[in-house]
Formats: sequence, structure tokens, C-alpha cells
Amino acid sequence: MLKIQDYRPQPFIDFTQPENVQAYEAALKKVRAELLGKHYPMVIDGERVDTEEKLTSLNPCDTSEVVGTTARATIQDAERALQGAWKAFETWKTWEMDARARILLKAAAILKRRHLEACALMSIEVGKNYAEADVEVAEAIDFLEYYARSAMKYSGFGSSETTWFEGEENGLMSLPLGVGVSISPWNFPCAIFLGMLAAPIVVGNCVIAKPAEDAGLIAGFIADIMYEAGLPAGVLQFLPGVGKDVGEYLTTHARTRFITFTGSRAVGLHINEVAARVQPGQKWIKKVVLELGGKDGMIVDETADLDVAITAAVQGAFGFNGQKCSAMSRLIVVDAVYDDVVNGFVERAGKLKMGTGEENANVTAVVNGMSFDKIKGYLEIAPQEGKVLLGGEAPGECNGKQGYYVQATIVGDVKRDARLAQEEIFGPVISVIRAKDWADALAIANSTEYGLTGGVCSRDRDRLEQARREFEVGNLYFNRKITGAIVGVQPFGGYNMSGTDSKAGGPDYLANFMQLKTVTERW
Ligand code: NAD
Repeated sequence: MLKIQDYRPQPFIDFTQPENVQAYEAALKKVRAELLGKHYPMVIDGERVDTEEKLTSLNPCDTSEVVGTTARATIQDAERALQGAWKAFETWKTWEMDARARILLKAAAILKRRHLEACALMSIEVGKNYAEADVEVAEAIDFLEYYARSAMKYSGFGSSETTWFEGEENGLMSLPLGVGVSISPWNFPCAIFLGMLAAPIVVGNCVIAKPAEDAGLIAGFIADIMYEAGLPAGVLQFLPGVGKDVGEYLTTHARTRFITFTGSRAVGLHINEVAARVQPGQKWIKKVVLELGGKDGMIVDETADLDVAITAAVQGAFGFNGQKCSAMSRLIVVDAVYDDVVNGFVERAGKLKMGTGEENANVTAVVNGMSFDKIKGYLEIAPQEGKVLLGGEAPGECNGKQGYYVQATIVGDVKRDARLAQEEIFGPVISVIRAKDWADALAIANSTEYGLTGGVCSRDRDRLEQARREFEVGNLYFNRKITGAIVGVQPFGGYNMSGTDSKAGGPDYLANFMQLKTVTERW
């Protein structure tokens, strides 16, 4: 067994301290000097392999800047990665659990040393400001530390409880599944990418990790840390590529044992469907773990501390420009306090500064042209669906830099069934919905197909208890922002169309990547 202290989440950096800001700026300089323009090839069976075609990563806050490139895996590369991973599995599955866990702990130690570099790279590659980047790298470290410890309970024969039966020995063994594919999104390109590969790996699986096209550099940086920590060849196949080709190939493949996917509802449901079709020669039912989108609502009632509620709304709505699955995209306010809450929200959000991640702005550019165009489409319908109270424009430029800039936007009096109130926009565009009273507010909150995060700002105990039972979300928060789940503290994942509720960073997450075998010996 590992001899280590209990799990404690990483503390966050206090950027009100000037020395921490200076350290961040120094990291930005270092990353600009050492990592900008870097190329990450694939890593298959421990070998760095390149492709003719490349994927290019642009700085969303200054699209004239190429951040770097990665290989663009072909179907042949994907096939080779899959076959190689199965070969590696033969040995990896026999490793002791603590030996595998030690690699995660070593990787955590390396990432702690390179914490600010990882942050700085994300500021440039996806436009995260200092605090957003810091909490993400902290989360990535937490995943490693937490899963390393969680793995211990699945170690050895009889690791799960069975009842004693006279004359026999009975036990429940936890076994790895085999080779799986991990497909991750660009919005948490460090933490989610890493958490989704580290969890299956620590319990003995091999993983082909396909990062998002827009964030290949940070993924390459993280994969290198796992190799440096000592992962044997073939256990982690780093396969940057395009979802529609290599992603599709791997999710439909007969030899893919499991799929762990975080991304949009549309792609997730498609994967669920194709993965369910049995291919010739396939001998298992693929296990599919899905973490999808949200249309997350926060209720403010007439008993709430309005200052707390307004702060929670601003933080939950505009952190990383609303590009979080957990972001508050619907603010549901009961009529009695509607004007006060909305005025405060608009006033506070109006102070947010637009700029680059590197300048530590509050609102930076959204990730890419597709996202920018999609959000612009919602801004166009906003005046028909409600009253635009703040923002409403997508200037595509800020302080002389061309980038995917969208203003922090608040649309008031949106109807509960309007497109703005039902569809995931994934940008800084918030709908405020007026509710008659508490009961109406709860009904509105539950009126989407999603069920990821939600919140209630209220001082009424009965209402909070009712929300505990009836608010249909995987992560529910009272009297605080609805984003920022901490590994081990707030296990994260949604239900309904938001996913399979597998609860990343939770006590049973690793069980998603194992199968159980009961063994009985009659004495
Ligand atoms: P996306 O669905 O467009 O892409 C996610 C990944 O899927 C990418 O790596 C992409 O290359 C790949 N992909 C695309 N088509 C594929 C296919 N046919 N087969 C296999 N793979 C394919 O999502 P995104 O824009 O990267 O991320 C944003 C979405 O992710 C939002 O909807 C957000 O809510 C969701 N998200 C959810 C969580 C959560 O924990 N529930 C966390 C973060 C993001």
C-alpha cells in the first residue's frame, strides 16, 4: 500500500498578491520563449510519430498568432494505436495497483512544479485568465492525487465486501476492462483531458487519448508529463486528430472496450448510438461514459441575500466567458425581487473588462470561429426573445487585436421556452427569466432537457430542502456560484441529457473502468 498523506485539494493562488502576478507573467514569458510554435507529434507505443497533415492551434484572443501544431492522426495511426495498446495491456494489467498509482503521484509532482507553465500555455492557447487557468491546473493535480488514492480500494482479491459463508471463501475482484478511447473537449484541456485518461489507466486499462482540435498543445504538454512520470510504452497512446475521422473510427471499432467522452450533447449522443452497434468480431458490450452539456439555472427568491446572489450570478455566468458546462446560463428570479437582482447583475457584469487571457481580463475571446458564429446567431435572435440589458455585440476585435471577442451579454425577460432559455450557447450570453414565485421558479429550473448544475439563492429552509429533493441536476449549489467543483469535495457530473452521471472526482468514478468477478472456493 502507498504510504502517503490523505488527499487534500490543491490550494488556489491568490492573485491579489503582486508576487503571484509577477510569477504568472514570468511563466507567460517562459512559455512564449520555449513552447510557442512547438509541434507535438503523436505518441504510439512509446514512439513519437508524425503525420504529413498537421492541426494548427490559434490564439483565440489574437488569431494572427499560431500557438503551435500537432500531428493529425489518420485511420491507420488510430488502428496502430489500438492494436499497440492491447499489447501493452497484457503487461499493464498485471502491475500492482500501488505501482500504477505511484506514476500518477509522480505526474502530480511534476505538474506541481510546472503549474504556472501549464497555466500560461492555457492563457495563450484557449484564452483563460490567471484564476481560471490556476483552478484548472489545480484540478488536474487533484485528479491525479485523488485517483491514485481511490485506486487502492480496488487492490487485490476480495477488495469489495461480500458476506461470510461457512465452508467457502468468497471474494469480488475488480478487473480492468481493456483498451478504451478517451475523447475530451477544449474547454478544460488540461484537467479533463488528464482526469479522463488517468482514471482508467490507474486501474489497469490502456487508453488512446484524443484531445480536442483547439487545444492540442496543452494536451501534448500533459501527455509528456505522464510519460516523464514513467508510463510504459503503449499504455497511453497520444493521438491528436479530428473527431469526425479518428474519433469516429475508434468509437465504432470492434476492439474498443470502453469510451469515455466529455463534450457536446450532439456528439455524445452520436457516440452512444454508434458504440451500441455491435461490429463483426466484437465480443463485449462497449461501456460508454458521457459527460455532456448543460443549460444550468440558478434561482433567486425573495428571501435571498441579494448581494450574495448577484456575486454568484456574475461569477457563475461569466467565468471563462460562460464556456463551462457548469456555467450559469439561466438566471431565474422571482418577480418580487426581479428588478433589484437584474439591476445589480447588470451593473456588476458591466464592470467586467474585455481583453486577452494574458492580460488577465475578465472576459476574453471565445475559443474558435465556429463558436463565435454560433454565439453571434444567438445574439441576433436576442432582441426578439427578450430585452438586451447588457452587451449584445460580438465585436471580433479588442484593443487592436483580432480575436473571437463577444461582449458579456444579459438578456432580460426571456420566456422559459425560448431558444435562448433552452439551448446551450456556450458563451457569455445569459438569459434572465422572471418567475411568479418559488414554485414557478423551480418548475422553470427543471424545464430543460439537461440536468448538470443548478443553484438556489434563498434563506428559506423548506425551499432549500425541496430543491435538494426536486431540482433535477447532478450538482446543486446553495447560496454560491454554481461552477468550480473541486475533486473529491464535489464529485461532478450530470444526468438527463447532461450525461451518464458518472461523477468525475467522486469515490466510485474508477468503477466505471472496471468489471467485477466473483470467485468462490469450497473448502
Ligand atoms: P465537441 O462535442 O464538439 O467535441 C468534443 C470532442 O469530441 C473533441 O475532441 C472532438 O474532436 C470529438 N468529436 C467530434 N466529433 C466526433 C465524432 N463523430 N466521434 C468521436 N469524437 C468526436 O465539444 P467541445 O466543443 O469540445 O466542448 C464543449 C462541450 O463540452 C459543451 O457542450 C460542454 O457543455 C461540454 N462539456 C461537458 C462537461 C461535463 O463534465 N459535463 C465538461 C466540459 C465540457
